[in-house]
Formats: sequence, C-alpha cells, structure tokens
Amino acid sequence: MTNPPARPATPGSELRLPRKPRDVTGESRTALVRRARRIGRRLAQMYPDAQCELDYRNPYELLVATILSAQCTDVRVNLVTPALFEAYPNPEAMAAADRTELEELIRSTGFFRAKANSLLGMASRVVDEYGGEIPGTLDELVTLPGAGRKTANVVLGNAFDVPGITVDTHIGRLSRRFGWTTQTDPVKAEHEIGALFPPKDWVMLCHRMIFHGRRVCMARKPACGACGLADLCPSFGEGPTDPEVAAKLVKGPVSEVTQW
Ligand code: SF4
Repeated sequence: MTNPPARPATPGSELRLPRKPRDVTGESRTALVRRARRIGRRLAQMYPDAQCELDYRNPYELLVATILSAQCTDVRVNLVTPALFEAYPNPEAMAAADRTELEELIRSTGFFRAKANSLLGMASRVVDEYGGEIPGTLDELVTLPGAGRKTANVVLGNAFDVPGITVDTHIGRLSRRFGWTTQTDPVKAEHEIGALFPPKDWVMLCHRMIFHGRRVCMARKPACGACGLADLCPSFGEGPTDPEVAAKLVKGPVSEVTQW
C-alpha cells in the first residue's frame, strides 16, 4: 500500500483535516466555518495587495471593462480600455458610438460583435433609464445588456462598496476544492460561500481567491506541493505534491505563495 503524499510542513497547521480529499461533508458546520476563515486569513497574508486586476476610474469604466473581460484576460482588457475610454468617456458617448469604430477598438478582446452589442445596449439603457449614471443595485444592474449577476457583483463590490460574491471560474473551482460548496450553479455557490464569511470580507476574499486560482490553484494542474494552503485544503494532492515539481507550475514569485 502506498502512503498518501506528505503535506509540506506549514507553520500553524495544527488543524485536523479530513483523511480523504473529498471527505469534507464529515466536517461539522463549526469546523467548516473555522477552516474557511483560516483559509481566508491565510489568503490575506499570501496576497496582501490583491485587488481588482481591471483598470478603471469610475463605475462606468469598471462596467465596460468587466463586460470586455468575458472570455478574455484582464491584461488584454487593460491594453484596450485606455483608447476606448478616451473615445467614449461616459455612457452618453458610448451610446452614440459608431458601431464599426467601437468594434475595431475592442476587436482584440474576442467576441467583439457581441461585446459591442452589449456595450451599446448597456449605454443606451443607462442613458434612457438611469439618467446617464450607472445604477448601484443588483436588481438594476442585471437589467443592463451584458451585465449578468457576476458582472453586477464585480461592479457593486469594487465601485460601490456593496458586498458581493462573484462566482467566476476561479472562485467556483477553488470553493469546491476547499470543500466550501459542491454546487456548480453560481447563484447557489454564491449563497453557500457567502454564509461562511461576514459580508464585509466578501469582496477581498474574492480578489484573493482569484489571485490564488491564477497563480497556484489552476484548473488543470494545481501546484499543491508549493501551495500555502496545503494544510487547510482537503483537495491537497489534486496536483503535483513534489515541492520542486509544483514550484515550476506557480505563476509569479513562489515565495509569495509559500511564505506568509
Ligand atoms: S493548489 Fe492544491 S492544496 Fe492548494 S488550494 Fe489548490 S487543490 Fe488545495
């Protein structure tokens, strides 16, 4: 019989973990909440500078950037938005945009025709229904073309300081690996994750989880052997556990994710 992979020695790792990676349902509610909050605190230590990786100066710019970020990297969006915001600095200007010129400006973000539709529709509705101001509630934001619940929560949390959980691909994957939820439905997952933390922590928790998902806990090969959450994660072993092998998978400085 082979032994399970050794966990890296991590300071402060006295917490007892379930024996099997998916055996999280055996945790009591109290233990689950405690472990979730320890993960939250650890992520805060690992990524003290985590923040929204889209560049924006106001709710309109964040909404535009978030619409463009669908199926596209934040880095690519940030390359496109300076010229876009110069050409269309507010919803009125966007609503009056020439479609061909708009499509050309956003072409490199992919799905540019659909995104142009969303931007033009969103801007027209903001002008017609909300006097040119981006609305600050979930119910209103989700009525805007291109703004689903995920986009609305990004805008609310970052531009309006309204707590929200944004269940994107990273947060969905990590929260299932952490054993916080088994839901694949984003709205159900949002409620289950939110119930583990006070609302004031939701927005920063999301930024830190996205950072971790991009740098360490990737979809295909999570770098478990170099992960600062290894002692708290029931999915340790889903990726390589050898520290040297895992370190090569980490995107960015390894010290950031192993020392805190
Ligand atoms: S990299 Fe591995 S140990 Fe770290 S959070 Fe992801 S699955 Fe868990």
